[in-house]
Amino acid sequence: MSTLEEQDIKFLPGVGPKRALLLSKELNINNCSDLLYYFPYKYIDRTRIYTIREINGSMPYIQLKGKIISMQQIGDNRKKRLVAMFSDGTGTLELIWFQGISWTIQNIKLNTEYLLFGKPSEFNGKINVAHPDLEEPAKSLATFTGYLQAYYNTTEKLKNSFLHSKAIHKLQIQLLSQLKGKIAETLPTYLIQKLKLISLEEALFNIHIPTNPELLHKAQFRLKFEELFYIQLKILSLKNLRDHKFRGHIFHKIGYYFNSFYKNNLPFELTNAQKRVIREIRLDVGSGKQMNRLLQGDVGSGKTMVALMTALMAIDNGYQACLMAPTEILANQHYESIKGMLAGLTLQTGLLTGSTRKAERKTIHEHLLSGEMQLLIGTHALIEDTVNYRNLGLVIIDEQHRFGVEQRSRLWAKNSSPPHILVMTATPIPRTLAMTIYGDLDVSVIDELPPGRKPIQTLHYFENRRASVYDFIRKQIAAGRQIYIVYPLIKESEKLDYKNLEEGYEHIRKAFPLPHYQVSMVHGKMKAADKDFEMQRFVKGETQIMVATTVIEVGVNVPNASVMIIENAERFGLSQLHQLRGRVGRGCDQSYCILMSDYKISAESRKRLDIMVRSTDGFEIAEADLKLRGPGDLEGTQQSGLPIDLKIANLARDSQILQYAREIALRILEEDGTLNHRDNLVLKEQLKKFSKTQFNWSNIS
Ligand code: ADP
Ligand code: MG
Repeated sequence: MSTLEEQDIKFLPGVGPKRALLLSKELNINNCSDLLYYFPYKYIDRTRIYTIREINGSMPYIQLKGKIISMQQIGDNRKKRLVAMFSDGTGTLELIWFQGISWTIQNIKLNTEYLLFGKPSEFNGKINVAHPDLEEPAKSLATFTGYLQAYYNTTEKLKNSFLHSKAIHKLQIQLLSQLKGKIAETLPTYLIQKLKLISLEEALFNIHIPTNPELLHKAQFRLKFEELFYIQLKILSLKNLRDHKFRGHIFHKIGYYFNSFYKNNLPFELTNAQKRVIREIRLDVGSGKQMNRLLQGDVGSGKTMVALMTALMAIDNGYQACLMAPTEILANQHYESIKGMLAGLTLQTGLLTGSTRKAERKTIHEHLLSGEMQLLIGTHALIEDTVNYRNLGLVIIDEQHRFGVEQRSRLWAKNSSPPHILVMTATPIPRTLAMTIYGDLDVSVIDELPPGRKPIQTLHYFENRRASVYDFIRKQIAAGRQIYIVYPLIKESEKLDYKNLEEGYEHIRKAFPLPHYQVSMVHGKMKAADKDFEMQRFVKGETQIMVATTVIEVGVNVPNASVMIIENAERFGLSQLHQLRGRVGRGCDQSYCILMSDYKISAESRKRLDIMVRSTDGFEIAEADLKLRGPGDLEGTQQSGLPIDLKIANLARDSQILQYAREIALRILEEDGTLNHRDNLVLKEQLKKFSKTQFNWSNIS
């Protein structure tokens, strides 16, 4: 028998080539397995049949049983509608159609028993139901399924081809009846027994056609568990494999560079959190195991210093180190500030980005190969295939939320045995997401800001306060401070985006005219050199205002900047707002973040802005973001490169199941790391399949 994945959807009765194509295009359903795993998004209780006497206009969807006793088309062409009277013996009710009138007239029979399903509402003291669902009881899915009715997301195009929720449900029922008794189990028997799960077949039946609420619940649990379990099993077995396969370089000693830096160059006392993290790293790199560590620390917590001191440990032991940043601006800035901090130490440091000139690139390549260059800072350019190191011992990846397992594994090829890896992020990732994206990493947290920082004050203003915001800017500039003004990046329309920024810039130019005020502008479309030039002018304090898109979001450090104005703040995600806000408050002055928005913003946007005003805790904000938006469209998902699209589990709501699944996966791997035990063969099989289909690490880039 062919597998479900091999069975083309078009051979299902009622599908055919045209609808199959639509299902593929609109919902990415290509085969029977895809269909079966296209789960309902809600269920509606159809166990209860109400009587007309007991319903009122404020009830949710209800079900009635009765007959249509009259039907009448009224109104002229423009306001045509169809009105029918529905009776169940306890009273009558008005039904109304505004669309599909002729279809309804042709297909609905008078004085025939129907199950009616719809949302009652009240108009002029009378109850009516608009666009009810009508089914003859004999044909009703509700009588077939008996209990909760499943609802599926569809699209306009699908609906136009009559593939509405109910039709998809019918397809599922058909498919399931064909598959009865033939759905192979995907979890080992011992696990099903131990965890008291229902079988895959029972779960799939009940997710589409719930027998009763309890079984639906069990079906959901089983499928969510399985989904999260296999992700964890995959991640943890990767980690397992790596821990066994790779020996790490051992940085035995703390030597000249680290010590003299510590004695002579360290510009401030390290915070306790920084010290603790450096100790954690030290243990890793001395252990003989390859380090794979995630360093989380809120914006401004001083991750760069930890990175630098880790690099010095590598260099002291004869290894090369590299530091990779997501943007050229940031790479340049790291390069400048690190070179500054290393003053007096004879250490060869290089900068390699997309705009490094050919000749210089060549020299860098040579010096890397000969080992003369000890520390390389740059963008993605530094892990390209053409870049070869003599003895790369440490890779530090800064602010790279999209740097997933796949890329990290590419780094392992950069040396005969893989370098230690330190990933740093200021995007506080909720625990559940972290377990999924970075589930193979050990985690260190800097949970303390350097002393003397004043918490940033955040304010939310509407357009009508713009004049006073500008007054405030003038005062700050008069006091010697600098200002960021950020415009949103609209993904759908970069052009519009640019216009937005250009207009904003013109506007700012007028409000803050030369020669009194100097204004910089940077955006993603500028040439790297121009961007850098403008950035440097701002860094050096030659310009007072920086107008920018979110290119300045990550990492840029200008301690003298004290005001961050965010235009159309409602268009940003919470973690992005938090990142932007982190650009100020880096010096010892009181800093401000001003969120500008339209009056008309959605309730959800308002909630988001309220959270920003209320909290400066990155983790709290990240959790709130996850709850508000769900991980599906969490901006962090893309950013953090969630490599999988979850079909049923929800990282915001199912964190307990995730934790549980992770523990089970850990326990299994502890006992049988290679999954070669007979009982675990099904796990191995599934993992293989899973890697090919759902677990698309290469999505992350
Ligand atoms: P992030 O964690 O966001 O990358 P940075 O490493 O850019 O933060 O540090 C932010 C600022 O704090 C920098 O100006 C840095 O020099 C300064 N800094 C870092 N550690 C300390 C410390 N222990 N004491 C005082 N200032 C510090
Ligand atoms: Mg940083």
